[in-house]
Amino acid sequence: MKDITLSSLEIVQIPVLRDNYVYLLHDVATGSTAVVDPSVPEPVLDQLSERGLTLSLILNTHHHGDHVGANLALKAATGCSVVGKAAPEETIPGLDLSVVEGDLVTLGASTLRVLELPGHTRHHIAFWSKAHRSVFVGDTLFALGCGRLLGGSALDLFQSLQKLKDLPSETLVYCAHEYTQSNGAFALTVDPRNEALALRMQGVHEARERGQPTVPSTLSQEFATNPFLRTDDPLIKAAVGVMEETPEEEVFRQLRAMKDDFKAG
Ligand code: ZN
Ligand code: FE
Repeated sequence: MKDITLSSLEIVQIPVLRDNYVYLLHDVATGSTAVVDPSVPEPVLDQLSERGLTLSLILNTHHHGDHVGANLALKAATGCSVVGKAAPEETIPGLDLSVVEGDLVTLGASTLRVLELPGHTRHHIAFWSKAHRSVFVGDTLFALGCGRLLGGSALDLFQSLQKLKDLPSETLVYCAHEYTQSNGAFALTVDPRNEALALRMQGVHEARERGQPTVPSTLSQEFATNPFLRTDDPLIKAAVGVMEETPEEEVFRQLRAMKDDFKAG
């Protein structure tokens, strides 16, 4: 459990299931509280009662069970509303408010902007707080990796990751899984001469040995060490086995396919 206070938005990271992270967002000024991608209800309800908070919103990045599993139970227990993107083939249980690119979600005095980031699923979205330098990306971008293609295309995901390059580089990336060690093992195979990556992996192993999360990271860390954001790098192109002039989206497609086949060790 880790508490991160950024001005007036308190973010509580709740590890659940095997490797999921659920985030409680508490706007300190007003007491308004939201939860991002609740997989299971009990740990969320425990945190709410421990902290004396009332849940007003569920924010869903996409429809997968490990992100929406607690929607109906939390709605029944708290009367909160569910915010996500409506899509007939990617149904979010209990959805009340459908959002699209650019919509603003208000949580007390805090505002989160909706970014459409398709690829992992066709209708995946993220929630970005510029003021609190935080983005909740679900399964789009992971620390040292990216989501698998389970609905969207490689081109979709490539373009979604490019979109994140427009955010301030100090933005904290709150992804929904602790996959950093295995992602890093793959990253080292395609970017073995990257010293920042080697150094980061040392820190990742140490943190995991202490049982600490390696999430959030910053966008600038990801730009320096995440191969899926470095498809313009000649050494990564060489590792993928493509020509120097191969378009980045094709490098990305092949890199994603290599990761699908990768077995560490
Ligand atoms: Zn997912
Ligand atoms: Fe997931």
